[in-house]
Amino acid sequence: MHELIGDGFNNRFEDIPMDFQLDFEQRMVQESAARMVERDIAPVLAAHDPDTPLPKSALQQIFATCASVGLTAARIPEDAGGAGMSALTMGLMYEQLPPVIGLSVIAHEGTGARLYYSSSAEQRERVLPDIISGQKIACTGVSEPGVGSDPRSIKTRAVADGGDYVIDGRKIWITNASVCDLINVTCTAGQDDKGLSRLMRVVVDRQESPFTTREIEAVGLRQGHLSEVLFENCRVPKDNVMGEAGDAAKALTLTWLANRPIFGLFCVHLAQKALDAALLYAKDRSQFGRAIGGFQLIQEMLADISTAVVTSRLLCYYALDCIDKGDRANHISAMAKRYAVSTCQRAVSLSMEVHGAIGLTREMGLETLYRDARMFTVPDGTRQILSLIEGRELTDVAAFRP
Ligand SMILES: Cc1cc2nc3c(=O)[nH]c(=O)nc-3n(C[C@H](O)[C@H](O)[C@H](O)COP(=O)(O)OP(=O)(O)OC[C@H]3O[C@@H](n4cnc5c(N)ncnc54)[C@H](O)[C@@H]3O)c2cc1C
Repeated sequence: MHELIGDGFNNRFEDIPMDFQLDFEQRMVQESAARMVERDIAPVLAAHDPDTPLPKSALQQIFATCASVGLTAARIPEDAGGAGMSALTMGLMYEQLPPVIGLSVIAHEGTGARLYYSSSAEQRERVLPDIISGQKIACTGVSEPGVGSDPRSIKTRAVADGGDYVIDGRKIWITNASVCDLINVTCTAGQDDKGLSRLMRVVVDRQESPFTTREIEAVGLRQGHLSEVLFENCRVPKDNVMGEAGDAAKALTLTWLANRPIFGLFCVHLAQKALDAALLYAKDRSQFGRAIGGFQLIQEMLADISTAVVTSRLLCYYALDCIDKGDRANHISAMAKRYAVSTCQRAVSLSMEVHGAIGLTREMGLETLYRDARMFTVPDGTRQILSLIEGRELTDVAAFRP
């Protein structure tokens, strides 16, 4: 068997290179993003309570830093003032960010990308510059108290009234909403012939059309902003309606494809930290007269953590590369997030195990990694929804609705 594979392999495929290493430029991108975090972002986070959402001024400072390297407009083409990054470059940079900041910036950037790809020239000119520069913080409001994985059942209404639309409804779990200046709200414009909402998107400028927000405390990412938003008789000029009624699902999907592997990379970031800590501790800590890193069962945990980091990272990079190559990436993008989030969560938990009791304490910081990783199991597709996407791509049968 071995000989057969060996012969055939060498003869037929020796000229086809397959490089799993980052090239020089990609490594530079990673390194400069890591340096930026160390110099300009980590000190801002460290200067504030780790359990409380950052003040808006601190987030604005961080957004200005991210804007200077194109992260606030990564998916907007250069000729429109954006950075025109490839999905993989975006991923390499986002992986370096503390995930609480990564989530906030990608929520903002994704909002800009959605607006760019489905708005008029006039709207782009009016709305995008402040998003690109990071001067206005943006977010996307889809989820509602009764609407989660199935956005086609949205209840927030936008009703035409003279030159305006009047929005009424409640959005929930919206990243950045409490500190935002602009929210891209998905509303219903009535129902289609299957009884599903025809979705439309309206950009609401908070100064021009006020709405109220409330911060929600969650298990992790506690310096970030996860908010509820209430629109009551909120009057928005008709010019702020983006794209065509019914195209909102397409605009959302556009960003979800790259967001998913990038959320996976946020978890890789956390798992890498957990691996680094476990390796150090395993060398340092002695029991039964020797370093615990010399015990076979500890080595097995270290091997499992390291495998999780490497496989998750490669799968997420691969998914992003497929997007760049223009391949249909729905399957691989869902797979990358589903795999990386759950595998890296386990990796963090194993690192806590390597640490014994001290792994459970706040001072080690592992519990923060654990809580932060848990947060990524839900946005842009729960594990179950991602499985259904993969299942649909494999079988050609969508199992979402009866
Ligand atoms: C950190 C974070 C950031 C977020 N940011 C935003 C944001 O910026 N904007 C925004 O609009 N929303 C945001 N959300 C909300 C997020 O998109 C929703 O929470 C998500 O879509 C899931 O909806 P849900 O929580 O209502 O769960 P539900 O959809 O009610 O699901 C509950 C459970 O049922 C399962 N389930 C649902 N349908 C099926 C099915 N067909 N088959 C099998 N199982 C199923 C789910 O997997 C889950 O386990 C964020 C959430 C989090 C946690």
